[in-house]
Amino acid sequence: MSKNGNFTTEAEDKLIEDAFRDVLDGYLRSNHRKKVEIIERAFKFAKEAHKGIRRRSGEPYILHPIAVAKIASQEIGLGSTSICAALLHDVVEDTDYTVEDIEQNFGKKIAQLVEGLTKISGGIFGDKASAQAENFRKLLLTMSEDIRVVLIKMADRLHNMRTLGSMAPNKQYKIAGETLYIYAPLAHRLGLFQIKTELEDLSFKYEHPDAYHNISNKIEASEGKRTQIYDNFAAPVLARLDGMGLRYTAKARVKSVYSIWNKMETKHIPFEEVYDLYAARIVFECDDPALEKGICWQIYSAITDIYRLHPDRTRDWISNPKANGYQALHLTVMGPDGNWIEVQIRSRRMDEIAEKGFAAHWKYKVGEGDEESELNAWLHTIKDILDDPEPNALDFLDTLKLNLFASEIVVFTPKGELLTLPMNSTVLDVAFNLHTQMGCRCIAGKVNHRLVPLSHKLNSGDQVEVLTSQSQTPKPEWIDFLATAKGKTRLRSSLRKLQQPAVNAGRAIFEKFLKQNDIADDNVAITKVMGLFKASSREEFYYLLGNQEIVLNEYVVKTLRKQRSVTKRFIDKLLWRNPNASGDAGVAQNAASKRVSINTKETYVLKCDENGEGNFHLSDCCKPIPGDDVLGFINDDGEVVVHSLDCPKAAALKASFGSRILSTRWEVGDARFIATIRIEGIDRQGILHELISLISTHLSLDIRDLDIHADKEVFQCDLSVLVSDVAGVNSLCSKVRKISGVQKVTRL
Ligand code: MN
Repeated sequence: MSKNGNFTTEAEDKLIEDAFRDVLDGYLRSNHRKKVEIIERAFKFAKEAHKGIRRRSGEPYILHPIAVAKIASQEIGLGSTSICAALLHDVVEDTDYTVEDIEQNFGKKIAQLVEGLTKISGGIFGDKASAQAENFRKLLLTMSEDIRVVLIKMADRLHNMRTLGSMAPNKQYKIAGETLYIYAPLAHRLGLFQIKTELEDLSFKYEHPDAYHNISNKIEASEGKRTQIYDNFAAPVLARLDGMGLRYTAKARVKSVYSIWNKMETKHIPFEEVYDLYAARIVFECDDPALEKGICWQIYSAITDIYRLHPDRTRDWISNPKANGYQALHLTVMGPDGNWIEVQIRSRRMDEIAEKGFAAHWKYKVGEGDEESELNAWLHTIKDILDDPEPNALDFLDTLKLNLFASEIVVFTPKGELLTLPMNSTVLDVAFNLHTQMGCRCIAGKVNHRLVPLSHKLNSGDQVEVLTSQSQTPKPEWIDFLATAKGKTRLRSSLRKLQQPAVNAGRAIFEKFLKQNDIADDNVAITKVMGLFKASSREEFYYLLGNQEIVLNEYVVKTLRKQRSVTKRFIDKLLWRNPNASGDAGVAQNAASKRVSINTKETYVLKCDENGEGNFHLSDCCKPIPGDDVLGFINDDGEVVVHSLDCPKAAALKASFGSRILSTRWEVGDARFIATIRIEGIDRQGILHELISLISTHLSLDIRDLDIHADKEVFQCDLSVLVSDVAGVNSLCSKVRKISGVQKVTRL
């Protein structure tokens, strides 16, 4: 069955043995019990099962499970059960062995973990539209049974990201997108800070290779200067800490490439203006956890004796640890170079928890009651979302992300019960979190005994009472007042229940209408009418129809017929395959099939003809132009829509419709595109004239739109021009920056 090339060479055998040795050695150095025998058996079993199989990169497959086991053990800190499950994680999926085989050889626990991991991986590259969302739902369901499943899955994802280079480009986008959209936030929520950072940086590297290398190079180039400033800053502090007799390490921690880029993007600033490129971190040794808090504040006091303290930026994550377990004392002081510098103070224990998350919790056995119950509470809210059969995959992911990212507040019910809610939660959130019916009937609230509307945003420590009325019904616009995933899910399902009779009636009306007018009841018809009435889903269209908010008239018939005839002709052409037909018909058929079939495995070339008509559409949400990092998305009509890679909508598309993502290349020739830049500055006589003449005369660019606001001395001007690519916009920006009075120029 297998060819010669499928056997491993002697050198490869050695490589495999060494890699496994490395896993074992790391395990033996850890605090776990030394259950070596079962790990060795799992390795032999997996090696035998994957024998003769290679990864896309050409290396023997077994190296992947070994690498995953190594990450699970050494980077996440898991024990023998998880190491075995990691070694075996692809066996059931990719070979003839079953979960029963695993159970017989390795027992129930390991078999359960492997089964959980198999369930999740099924369909991860599937072609179904919502496969990824569905898959993720499964992941979380399994996770709520055994958290180790998701931790091993993280290790699997991390190794796949580290070796992403050998994948096809369209898969790279899809996997990188998924990682940034789902796995990185999840890692964050689980407190796996190091892994989260690496996942983000790796995704970013594949999505924006140029920006990634640019920023990396600048970090490297600025290192000397940074070190000097840090040394100046640290010298007097370290002298004080030495005087206090502490054992500690102190160093400057540079932000990750991804988070620097994020800052540049959100604040519209160049690299040079990101002043908090790094933070100083002091990690001290302390054997008695009871003393940690006191030492943190002693160090705080020592630093603030030397440097001026920023009044609003002290964060005490020791008295109130973050939901993911993070503990530290943060302060910001004015450094010797006049820039604010953040200092993070942690004990060794806190530092390990911050970097490794839950695994470190187990190691230190801290707050067995507390931390556990906090995690359980969170898993519970996840289960609530999962139990509701949300019909829309994208809504589901959004709701979930909300839950992953949120920072939290604590409020009290009138009975003194404690509720943990995400930031920006409202009275309505409290109502829905207590009970669906209470949410649906909510009319207002009392916060600290004062009457407030149901949309009132709560602060930590508020006491909240919900006021209800029997005559109240839930409203669609309430969705904007809700910050909790649970609230949103419960409101949506209540609304659906309420609207169901109208939806059913609408569906019946539409079916009858199609029959009467002899129009086929297919996707084309429904898509067309949804577009006509601007309904975002079938349910919404049926609801509007059933509620008599819209009517189906002659115009609708005409529109549907027109659509049908074009489609019909098109299909006729495709199906017309008479072998005796003339050559002409053959050509027509080829042309037609070329239009419908796009090979997602190949890079799609974005082209324009001489009239500027492209074989693509630019998305409205992010308006990319040539030179931007973009991807193509095949929409329901089979057309290619181009999104910028950092567009939030594109991120959602990648995570949900991975199989419709294309890697693309710009080859648009002389075509021109609209770009908008924002110019801010100090108003003076003639500045506008100077600006316009620069653009239209010196640069001979077409101005498409100009919008100026002036407030006293300050002006802001949004300018849309036609350019051929990003380089054009950048050179325009740098020329405009040189006009005296202009303070800031950014592309929107
Ligand atoms: Mn795997």
